[in-house]
Amino acid sequence: MKMFYSNESHFLVNNVKNIIEAQDIKVFIKNEFAQGAIGEISAFDSWPELWVFDDSDFDHAVEIVKSSQAVIQAVDWTCKNCSETNDASFEICWNCQRGNS
Ligand SMILES: [Zn+2]
Repeated sequence: MKMFYSNESHFLVNNVKNIIEAQDIKVFIKNEFAQGAIGEISAFDSWPELWVFDDSDFDHAVEIVKSSQAVIQAVDWTCKNCSETNDASFEICWNCQRGNS
């Protein structure tokens, strides 16, 4: 098993997971529920990670992530707090300043 993608945004990680799975590659998310954990874990360590089950899928998965990066990052997101739509380049809601997670 190999980790091929990590991002602080669960939204993006799930997006990538869907894209990869659409190519019949088996993947899983590590640290999916680690965010919000208090204590010794640093913010970076608790980023959700995407892993391939089969190492032979690794190159293919990386390839797909690279080719879809532009698409992934161009996706608007909806604030869970106030339901405003935010541009993909915004990390916090322009309306209520809540983070995108
Ligand atoms: Zn908001």
